[in-house]
Amino acid sequence: MVYTIREVVSFLDSIAPPAYQESYDNAQLITGDPNTKVKGILCSLDATEAVVDEAISLGCNLIVAHHPIVFKGLKSFTGKNYVERTIIKAIKNDIGIFAIHTNLDHVAHGVNKKIADKIGLKNTKILSPKKGILNKLSTFVPSAAVEQVMTALFDAGAGKIGDYSGCSFMSEGSGTFTPSEKANPTIGKRNKPEKALETKIEVMFPSFLESQIITALKNAHPYEEVAYYIHQLENENQEVGAGMVGELSTALDEKDFLAHLKSSMNLQVIKHTTLINKPIKKVAICGGAGIFLLNAAKKSRAEIFITADVKYHEFFDADNQIVICDIGHYESEIFTKELLLELLSQKFTNIALYFTKIVTNPITYL
Ligand SMILES: [Zn+2]
Ligand SMILES: [Zn+2]
Repeated sequence: MVYTIREVVSFLDSIAPPAYQESYDNAQLITGDPNTKVKGILCSLDATEAVVDEAISLGCNLIVAHHPIVFKGLKSFTGKNYVERTIIKAIKNDIGIFAIHTNLDHVAHGVNKKIADKIGLKNTKILSPKKGILNKLSTFVPSAAVEQVMTALFDAGAGKIGDYSGCSFMSEGSGTFTPSEKANPTIGKRNKPEKALETKIEVMFPSFLESQIITALKNAHPYEEVAYYIHQLENENQEVGAGMVGELSTALDEKDFLAHLKSSMNLQVIKHTTLINKPIKKVAICGGAGIFLLNAAKKSRAEIFITADVKYHEFFDADNQIVICDIGHYESEIFTKELLLELLSQKFTNIALYFTKIVTNPITYL
């Protein structure tokens, strides 16, 4: 079985929908023709020039990276900086670069779950679930067609709540309508007011699936004109959002936990605030720059918050309520390359999959 870049991209999009990325992000196929047949995939945190060279030497024509090499529009391609040089090299060598960034940070089985697994956290939950990304569909279906409409809606991605699928609410009632002279009614006659027994179906769905769900509804519904309403919900989506919180199976004292953190995440250095003499049981994490989640971490009653890119003044905000740990951006997210390889190997069993051996961390320690 030969797969194209498009097929690999659509699989990864199903794992971490691009709609879940931040507005400043550029998680998408950055170079490469989607119709190209994939020979091998190299997974990495960053797609630098050296990683492109590594892909060439391994015979890989697709790099799947967490951080996009390009964030903003490029206006020239002369090779004057590492971004331009990387893009030029990738294009010259027919290497696709795909970035799966904040969308992979925001899903429950993404970057932060991998960190949680490394540290050994159980009962993990999204630390700051996103709001405003769920809608509700209400539609009215004649009884005979309820089954086919429900199946079509569920197949299109509606009705999933946490670990449950096929979630809906149905109520029976009467619908009224009068078909016009030009109508071709399934029930009733032209110019004659009609009253039909109908079932109201209500289902939730992720907002980004709206057009595919409405298409599925219209295709499955027997009426010429389908009556439906869509409401945006205020509900949090527990499965999508920033950071994660979880628990250790047994509480550790702070120093023991820091030693455990250092060995499990393979760290050289941990920068942390003053210890507060509380055993560590609940741990909040956010791979990369996550200090914006400090209040959410405190609210979750975590004793410690592990993230990266914390500035001097931000450390003060720990305020003896929590221990803030900065473990380094690269170090916090380096296992993402393993995660990418694991995800890809679920589907692409006959594509050669690698993760980079290159240390792309621009920071070194003396
Ligand atoms: Zn990240
Ligand atoms: Zn990052």
